[in-house]
Amino acid sequence: MAEMVPCAVKTGPSTTELREFKMPEIDDESAILKVEVAGICGSDVKNYKGSIDNVIMGHENVGRIYKAGKKWLDRKGFKEGDLVFLEHYLPCTRCEWCHKGEYRHCFFTDWHHNPGAIRYGYTTSDIAPHLWGGFAHYLYMPWNAVCHKVPDGVSAELAGIGTPMANGVQWTLFEAGIGYGSKVLIQGPGQQGLCQVVTAKQAGADLIIISGTSKDAKRLEVAKQLGADVIIDVDKTDVLEKVREVTSGKGVDVSIDCTAGAGQKAFFTGLRALKGKAGTLVVQGNESKTFPDFPMEELTLKYVTIKSARGHSYVACELAMQQLASHRFPIENALTHTFSLDQVDLAIRSVGGQGEKDCIHVNVKPWKEAAA
Ligand SMILES: [Zn+2]
Ligand SMILES: [Zn+2]
Repeated sequence: MAEMVPCAVKTGPSTTELREFKMPEIDDESAILKVEVAGICGSDVKNYKGSIDNVIMGHENVGRIYKAGKKWLDRKGFKEGDLVFLEHYLPCTRCEWCHKGEYRHCFFTDWHHNPGAIRYGYTTSDIAPHLWGGFAHYLYMPWNAVCHKVPDGVSAELAGIGTPMANGVQWTLFEAGIGYGSKVLIQGPGQQGLCQVVTAKQAGADLIIISGTSKDAKRLEVAKQLGADVIIDVDKTDVLEKVREVTSGKGVDVSIDCTAGAGQKAFFTGLRALKGKAGTLVVQGNESKTFPDFPMEELTLKYVTIKSARGHSYVACELAMQQLASHRFPIENALTHTFSLDQVDLAIRSVGGQGEKDCIHVNVKPWKEAAA
């Protein structure tokens, strides 16, 4: 009898069913990952409600190489049994972006513009060999899968926060240029905001301010443990007033939007928290696609640089793994909830604020015993 692989499949908007697929055959140039941890982020909450069906979600994956073709192993420099952090991009490896390790920009991976793009956690399982997501016992890795070795001393659970940490490295260091002496405002203390605190602190930032709502009390507490200097509850304190107070009226060098949804409001708060000239605004366009009264003149007069927060490069992933391996900051305090495969629906709803309380980093462990 063929070996069957249990999976949680999104069969419709906000609907998950447990299903099984046949374990794929591998050839010399492919491999199978035994999934240990699949992290969940805000984009899953949005995509779960979306219209693409028959998706095995789970794009932040860590696992062990279960079996692999010889060529696959030779090409990647791994051996069976290695614990790896898997990027969710499956790139062409030939274009100029791929040569730079910027797989996020490769047309092959761009599911917004290329209907044939395959990304872990986003692609329908109608496409053979079906196992394109982390909410499953196993996942299929073709020749162009991008893996990073999880350093010794880093558990699969900790490596599970590798994706937001890689985004932290990318946005804080590479996009915003935060370094020694920088002052930064991070709006939103979810796992993404907290990882920005870690990378900003590691980079030498002088003043790290992070804001959230009263509901975020626990997250703000963890922000403090990770090295944030000033925490702001926006339900009690005016962010801009507080920023002025702690910067002697000068403002910050960099504002990063990690609110995942505050859109226009976060944009204006971020902009107005910036220093008089030449600040940098890191933005995300997920929720507010456009908005009226775009402050073109204000941006120009303040000589503001706008950078887009969009995923991470290969090197950002490597540095994220090193950051976790250093154990310099207690990032494990952000790992709050683990769910089993039969709880995927609850897990995603919890990240969206409608299930378990006080979630920060939430993951699914497909091999965890079923809850029911
Ligand atoms: Zn994500
Ligand atoms: Zn490419």
